[in-house]
Amino acid sequence: MIAGRISYGAWYHRRSGRERNYGIEKGVQRVMGEPIGGDPSAIGSGLRKVRKRRWFLWGLLLVYVPAIWLSLHLTHSDRITAVVFGVWLVVLIIAVFFVSTARCPRCGNYFHVYGMTPLYLRRCLHCKLHISADKKKPLGR
Ligand SMILES: [Zn+2]
Repeated sequence: MIAGRISYGAWYHRRSGRERNYGIEKGVQRVMGEPIGGDPSAIGSGLRKVRKRRWFLWGLLLVYVPAIWLSLHLTHSDRITAVVFGVWLVVLIIAVFFVSTARCPRCGNYFHVYGMTPLYLRRCLHCKLHISADKKKPLGR
């Protein structure tokens, strides 16, 4: 059973919601009593948003070595390169924050955060919705 594996947040919302059913209903959970998911276009656009944030983070990680190299090559200054590194680090922290706070369009939980643990997997840590579920299976339409 995975009923005991609901995060605290989801448990809280579930308790406070008007719904009495505390079990997982087909992996779809409700947040603040509002039903989320079910609408294929909403899931598609939600997943696109999550993907965009992920790509930005991966791109940022990939650009690190070229950026530092370029900075050293062009400026020949450790000081300026340190500033470039600092800016990169700040942008990285912001990117990590945005990826972490991306919500799953189906269950409404944080896509990459389970409890206090961020895991950047390709599936929702709560309802197992795949990051490209809208591409693989045409959900309706
Ligand atoms: Zn989910």
